[in-house]
Amino acid sequence: MKKAKQQKKRQKATAGKGKRRLSGGALLLAGGGVLTAALLGIFAWKYFFSKPAFDGQRAFAYLQQQCDFGPRAPDSEGHRRCGDFLVAELGKFADKVWEQQFDYRDKKDTSRVYQGRNIVASFNLKPAMGFRVMLCAHWDTRPWADKDPDPANRLLPVPGANDGASGVAALLEMARILHGRRPDFGVDIVLFDLEDLGDYNAEAFPDSLNPFCIGSEHFAANRRDYRPRYGILLDMVGEKDLLIKKEAISRAQAPHLMDRVWAAARKVGAGAFVDETGVALQDDHVSFLKRGIPVIDLVDFEYPHWHTVSDTPDKCSAASLQQVGDVLVEMIYGGE
Ligand code: ZN
Repeated sequence: MKKAKQQKKRQKATAGKGKRRLSGGALLLAGGGVLTAALLGIFAWKYFFSKPAFDGQRAFAYLQQQCDFGPRAPDSEGHRRCGDFLVAELGKFADKVWEQQFDYRDKKDTSRVYQGRNIVASFNLKPAMGFRVMLCAHWDTRPWADKDPDPANRLLPVPGANDGASGVAALLEMARILHGRRPDFGVDIVLFDLEDLGDYNAEAFPDSLNPFCIGSEHFAANRRDYRPRYGILLDMVGEKDLLIKKEAISRAQAPHLMDRVWAAARKVGAGAFVDETGVALQDDHVSFLKRGIPVIDLVDFEYPHWHTVSDTPDKCSAASLQQVGDVLVEMIYGGE
């Protein structure tokens, strides 16, 4: 009897313990459920409400990759190969990539015809919100390093790490981001050709000298139906010591857009964007401004290697591209 009683007691105790274990497991399950829900919530919040992250290192790799083709001067092997690379790379991310091919006859040597390629990558062909935004840069490089301090270098092509590759590099990384998460509106990445073939005093002799910005002028003149709500042009945005002032023509003709971009720069802490007016530049944005489309030029014109053979990747940095990319991401996704 005694034994039995003791056994019974033990059974009770075990049963009790079993009960406690069960309720512990239920609690654990419930806790796990709450945790999963919380994690899902955080994930959903991050996905839907936070901005995607621009990767400056990735952008810098794109800068290097373009320079590895050699100078991208029109009518050169580097130009052809890099153009094909840009079309293929954008094709991985965009809904549609197309080329506007055009001929340009040299005004100084009329026997010479350049084959221009403006490259366009579109995201959201039928957006929920009907408007489009243009992000653009020129991808060609200058055939002559005519500002090089050494006269022996002045007929050599510019490597164009900053003047050519940097803006394109930031936009290729933007293409990856736009592929991963579509905004409600349409975005077009437009890479202009034949920007840097110009003579510095062409405006005084328009019949015999070549202008700058041939590709963007051709694009804007022949695509009159294309009216993005606004555009942002990147030119020389990769310098290590990046300093972006408010380019004077952009400031005068698209002041509201400029204010928005500088507010975005403040918000993301992009210290390279300073509240000072820079020089007025005849750049690809002018082709659009004169047709009433607000496009501003983000440019660091205080670049000591401008149009020299020293415009090489070592003068540029991922950190600078990161600042510019952060601002673009804030402009595209910050309003969500
Ligand atoms: Zn240039």
